[in-house]
Amino acid sequence: MRNLHNKNHTAGHLIDYALHNLGYKLISSKAYHFPQGPYVEYQGTLEQAEREQLQTKLEKAVNDLVEQALPVKITLIDNDSKKRAMIVNDFQPILCGGTHVLNTKDIGHITIRKIKNEKGNLRVSYAVV
Ligand SMILES: [Zn+2]
Repeated sequence: MRNLHNKNHTAGHLIDYALHNLGYKLISSKAYHFPQGPYVEYQGTLEQAEREQLQTKLEKAVNDLVEQALPVKITLIDNDSKKRAMIVNDFQPILCGGTHVLNTKDIGHITIRKIKNEKGNLRVSYAVV
């Protein structure tokens, strides 16, 4: 179960990176990484047509990151106080104290199940296999 949690959790971060790579400057608002329907949420909403397009593009982009077999590391961000962050490859660190897989390839495959507007947020539901 721990392994599945690590996969789900790391997949959530990869969705952040993939959205950024697709040009979406979204601010993360919430994440739910547990096996029964994990999702990540961002501030703001999108029109239905864009959400549908994004679902396909995002699934491709996030699985590209999986297929590239990128290392997942832990680092300390030392500005004012040392905070624990996770970092994939040489991308932007993401503040996080959780546990992750060691390589994006360990996630397997990510399915973007649904993208919907939820109370002023954009909710991206996903599943890992
Ligand atoms: Zn994390």
